[in-house]
Amino acid sequence: MSARVIDGKLVAAAVRGEVAGAVEVILAAGQRAPGLATIIVGDDPASAVYVANKHKACEEVGFVGFHNELSASASAEEISEVIARLNADAAVDGILLQLPLPGHLDAGSLTGEIAPEKDVDGLTPTSAGLLALGRPGMRPCTPLGVVELLDREGVDLGGLHVVIVGRSALVGKPLASLLLERNATVTICHSHTRDLAAVCLEADVLVAAVGVPKLISGDWVKPGATVIDVGINRVDGGLVGDVDYEAAAERACCITPVPGGVGPMTIAMLLRNTLGAYGGAS
Ligand code: NAD
Repeated sequence: MSARVIDGKLVAAAVRGEVAGAVEVILAAGQRAPGLATIIVGDDPASAVYVANKHKACEEVGFVGFHNELSASASAEEISEVIARLNADAAVDGILLQLPLPGHLDAGSLTGEIAPEKDVDGLTPTSAGLLALGRPGMRPCTPLGVVELLDREGVDLGGLHVVIVGRSALVGKPLASLLLERNATVTICHSHTRDLAAVCLEADVLVAAVGVPKLISGDWVKPGATVIDVGINRVDGGLVGDVDYEAAAERACCITPVPGGVGPMTIAMLLRNTLGAYGGAS
């Protein structure tokens, strides 16, 4: 059996197209465009690329981008001032503090200063708490992207056993909450899980969010399972996921590639979150 490939680029393009369509309607009604502000601290090259990609995606859908750059030696107070200014700016619907921050800064506490209604990354303690309680709020983009891929693939999550490998606050934990909301039976595995292979073999839907190249081997995949690979690992100048793709594709019914699977969905869901946060008016 060779698995159907879940094309994240295609799905992300569809989501971006829907967001662009909604912005056209907003502009045609004479209202201001949604605004997304980014804050980058220091000159980490990977962060610079991520932020540039986010701005490009913003422009393409008709959002206004507000870029805030601070030096690597910026103090917590300076960053707090920028966040407070953006929180109060009616033209800014979403605020994104690009991580990681330089070592002298407390990312958790600074992220927490973003107004919950503008937390389009869904990573503040308030957003995490609302998700855990099953109450409305901003949801993190990568887990949202995973659920969107499953939805568009026609996977009916109710009652399915989803095994998530990885328990980070960024991916594994919020994804588990989102899947519970969809009535999946969820198992979260991590670095202390015993007999990971046996647990993975139980999965109707297997999600890998670990950061270890090809950790999930083909024979850990239940025949006919759906495999979602969140991992992005740089190996020998190329990108590979956490799943041994070729071997897993022999057993899975469908599978996301790396690159081109979950990756493109993150920015698409950031755009959708920003549209959802849009306050309207001019
Ligand atoms: P993390 O390092 O914060 O968490 C990794 C998790 O994997 C931990 O919970 C740890 O317990 C678990 N783990 C580590 N080794 C393990 C092992 N041998 N067996 C079982 N579990 C193990 O990572 P993260 O931020 O959640 O990211 C995970 C991966 O997803 C990375 O490759 C990252 O680059 C990628 N990622 C992709 C996107 C995207 O597609 N847009 C977004 C975020 C993260």
